[in-house]
Amino acid sequence: MFKPKRVIFEEAALEYEIGKKLYEEFKLKDVEIKYSKNGRITGIPGSNESEKYSEGKNTLAVGIRKTLNFQSCKPSAHYQLPLVSGCMGMCEYCYLNTQMGKKPYIKIHVNTEEILDNAGKYINERKPDITIFEGAATSDPIPVENYTGALGKAIEYFGANEYAKFRFVTKYTDIDSLIGLKHNSRTMIRFSINTDRIISSFEHRTPLLDKRLEAAFKVAEGGYKLGFIIAPVFLYDNWEQEYLNLLKDISTRFKGIDIEFEVISHRFTKRAKGNIMSIFPKTILPMEEEFRAFKYGQFGYGKYIYEKEQLNYMIKFFSENIIKYFGENKINYII
Ligand code: SF4
Repeated sequence: MFKPKRVIFEEAALEYEIGKKLYEEFKLKDVEIKYSKNGRITGIPGSNESEKYSEGKNTLAVGIRKTLNFQSCKPSAHYQLPLVSGCMGMCEYCYLNTQMGKKPYIKIHVNTEEILDNAGKYINERKPDITIFEGAATSDPIPVENYTGALGKAIEYFGANEYAKFRFVTKYTDIDSLIGLKHNSRTMIRFSINTDRIISSFEHRTPLLDKRLEAAFKVAEGGYKLGFIIAPVFLYDNWEQEYLNLLKDISTRFKGIDIEFEVISHRFTKRAKGNIMSIFPKTILPMEEEFRAFKYGQFGYGKYIYEKEQLNYMIKFFSENIIKYFGENKINYII
């Protein structure tokens, strides 16, 4: 669970029950409390990039989601469900590093009911087609779930609507409050995992692999659909053996449980590399452009991916082994 060093309350959030409750709770803790009149989050300290990053990652903003227009979320879902933004994790390669500004605070929205009512409008517009919502497009919502219960409310809301599905991904393990909810198998919980080596080298402030697998087992036992995202895959010395051990370990622990896999090879943009180097100057993340292929992206910027031959080999490796250990039709995509 995220234990912030400072909490910034938007004044509008204090008009909601949950905002008031959080305010009363945090007042009793050893936490710096600040206020924002207009929703602008300021006053997070930091004299260099690493400090700004770290102070941001230790800050919780309690606010409301004003705009109720949902962003699209292709290809895995139709819309992002904006319950939380940001993440307490400090993964060096994280895609959020280029999206959340220099002080990447975690923001929870206390107007959950309004957000869910709005999701209902999107569902009605698409009926009789099913609308899928993604709850972790710009966050890892699990470490703050015990503050708001927002994911739990969303799970039950979508569980009661036959035209909706919900999914989110996490690396965290505080999932006990989700067990026993009326999800009606309409929520898929995916766990983002990697080899122990990658987790200990790059995924700072996240749970160990073993703990993630334990949490995944609990949600599967709780009847949720389960997925694993193996990402980012790094092709380091001995990667085949270590990723194979990971797949074998899952196949033993999750025997008989239906699992969906997504596998994503490591990639980076020039901008992300610059950000990472300024926050983690001693990083050993492999980001040498000369060993990668350049792929033009959709939005005018390109990314560095593994060379074609390496990538094809990696795709073959994962597809063969996932089929071998889990059967056919378990792979959502491998890229
Ligand atoms: S846990 Fe996920 S969202 Fe959080 S920092 Fe790591 S990669 Fe980013």
